[in-house]
Amino acid sequence: MTGLVLEQVSRSFDGHAAADAIDLTVAPGEVVCMLGPSGCGKTTTLRLAAGLESADSGRVAIGDQVMDDDGAFVPPEARNVGLVFQDFALFPHLDVRANVEFGIGDQPPEARRRIVDDLLERMNLAAHASAFPHTLSGGEQQRVALARALAPGPKVMLMDEPFSGLDFRLRDQVGEETLALLRQLGTATLMVTHDSDEAMRLGDRVALMRNGRIIQQGTPADLYHHPVDVFTTKFFSEISLVGGFVKGKSVATELGLIAAPDLADGTPATVCLRPESLVLTQGGGGGAHGVAATVLSARNMGPYDLVWLKPVTGVAKYLARLGPGTSPAPGAEVQVAIARSGCFVFAD
Ligand code: ATP
Repeated sequence: MTGLVLEQVSRSFDGHAAADAIDLTVAPGEVVCMLGPSGCGKTTTLRLAAGLESADSGRVAIGDQVMDDDGAFVPPEARNVGLVFQDFALFPHLDVRANVEFGIGDQPPEARRRIVDDLLERMNLAAHASAFPHTLSGGEQQRVALARALAPGPKVMLMDEPFSGLDFRLRDQVGEETLALLRQLGTATLMVTHDSDEAMRLGDRVALMRNGRIIQQGTPADLYHHPVDVFTTKFFSEISLVGGFVKGKSVATELGLIAAPDLADGTPATVCLRPESLVLTQGGGGGAHGVAATVLSARNMGPYDLVWLKPVTGVAKYLARLGPGTSPAPGAEVQVAIARSGCFVFAD
């Protein structure tokens, strides 16, 4: 087996499971983003993979080699993993070249020089070889941190919020360039983030965690379009929630009947509505498609508009997303219908 493999890995602190039966694989050249709210166990899982924590149970393997199971524990320095953290952690008294060279083990000077030259070139840092970290921008420092982690040629790269210290414009660019290089080198990359946009943009696959467990893993599109529960749906976008009971394969809500073909009659259910699932028709009146609602407020967000509305005979507020500049004015009466896409029903 190749890449990084975690099988049923658990770790508790003071009786609380920070990582609970984690099953996760990262193939060579693949980028998996571990996503979840604060305290859900992302960093603990990364530390278990790195060998900075030992598992209470389960198995960690890299390539064909078992790193951690009942009988074995390989320390971090012998795991052939690269680590990159949010704070870069460069040596301030060493220049860029020396920082990158630091991680290379016993190699002849000529080989060391070649490795460093190659990485500085790939990371677009050659012009900064003799610069000290404090003279570099955040993006440059992060590229040095990455080059240093790559210098020993690790099979696995473990990164904890590596781009969150960067300005958001730089974050996209450095993130995409960095991960392109890791894919090209065939490195199995596990990256922690709490930002669903970042995970969707950068990950080949995403593992979403809550309370120490992986709730769902798959491609970003899998998680967005086929979420397994309300938590997962909410994690990827704003949603409006409405409760009800299933009757005749539908849930009756104040926005009309929502299809629930897989749920039995009488099941209490929650309907999640993404803003794009609300379809508005202006004017309307009797006979138009949907339910009458009043526009409470509307705001242009640049490429789209967000509109809050309330059914005329209802109590809850709902958020709709419309094309830019197409929103009805506050106070206008509209008809609201629900599109299938962006609408999910879960049994409570
Ligand atoms: P964040 O996004 O805030 O960094 P996280 O998802 O990375 O959070 P972890 O840092 O893995 O979460 O922590 C998971 C849980 O385990 C938390 O409740 C944390 O307090 C606890 N925990 C982690 N490390 C230790 C430790 N060494 N001793 C005691 N509790 C710990």
